[in-house]
Amino acid sequence: MREWEKNIRKVTPYTPGEQPKQQNVIKLNTNENPYPPSPKVAEALRRMTTETMRKYPDPTARELRDAIAAEYRVRPEQVFVGVGSDDVLAMAFLTFFNSGKPILFPDITYSFYDVWAGLFQIPYERPALNERFEIVKEDYFRENGGIVFPNPNAPTGLQMPLSDIEEILRHNRDVIVIVDEAYIDFGGASALGLLEKYENLLVVQTFSKSRCMAGMRVGFAFGCEDLIRCLNDVKYSYNSYTMNEAAIRLGAAAVSDHAYFSETCRKIRDTREDAKRKLAQLGFSFTDSQANFLFVTHESCPARELFGALRAAGIYVRYFDKPRIDNYLRITVGTDEEMEALYRFLRQYLKK
Ligand SMILES: *Cc1c(COP(=O)(O)O)cnc(C)c1O
Repeated sequence: MREWEKNIRKVTPYTPGEQPKQQNVIKLNTNENPYPPSPKVAEALRRMTTETMRKYPDPTARELRDAIAAEYRVRPEQVFVGVGSDDVLAMAFLTFFNSGKPILFPDITYSFYDVWAGLFQIPYERPALNERFEIVKEDYFRENGGIVFPNPNAPTGLQMPLSDIEEILRHNRDVIVIVDEAYIDFGGASALGLLEKYENLLVVQTFSKSRCMAGMRVGFAFGCEDLIRCLNDVKYSYNSYTMNEAAIRLGAAAVSDHAYFSETCRKIRDTREDAKRKLAQLGFSFTDSQANFLFVTHESCPARELFGALRAAGIYVRYFDKPRIDNYLRITVGTDEEMEALYRFLRQYLKK
């Protein structure tokens, strides 16, 4: 090893899903929304000029925070915004997980959590999901340096009842508990209402899935004013201008269109429930996902094989070569047309 290499931070980075270059692929691999953002976003975009870019943006992203606060009926001081929820979560890890005690998150979950823990040198333990892939709440009733889990969980899509989340909070009053609600708008019950009772709760959401804006990179979090102040102190100590002017304006425009948002989420839910019926007929079993994806395994065809066959046919889904889930595929819910193309291929390939 060369001398200068010894003091370099060594990390194993997160591997995002593939973004294929060719046209005409059916992209069901990264949980993007198949629908465009609200027409209000397109309008706001047309109002933007290069003059908008000349000045620094508002470091407090006031317009966006106010819009989120109004929509969710909280005070703007309870809202933190970041460059996608990945940025929000990374800031939260950096800000809140400093006790030296292991933080807790499930063995099967969003694969960025162990990456941030590695980056920030936070010890962690990963209680196993049960055989039905559910989070076992009792595993979180022990001493720890903080807790984070998605609800619904990824890639299982399973939601945890709010009463279980509250029990976890009741057993963990001295650490920060982060509920990552990236998929909450597709069916789960949000923990937002628990904020009043638990000042150690941080609820994280994103514009990437339910608001059709993964490319714009907007995420946000709700917490008590003290938690949000601490997050902002860390953020402003690192980079004050993470939220660019376009993200602020277009994000605010998206939040203002509640009707479009509910309609888009409803379409995804309908397509998802229809997919459950169709995939069952094709010999698949799956969790009762409340997210915008399905987590499926086939009675005879190995997931790895099916993943390759789908990919060769231009249908991209996600395969995780990891213990316990290496015979499963995660399939993002697309439009009805995209899903029909998926079923057509599967009927043919599985000769059903
Ligand atoms: C997609 C996702 C995120 C992050 O998404 P951003 O695009 O960074 O907002 C966070 N957590 C989970 C569980 C996700 O699936």
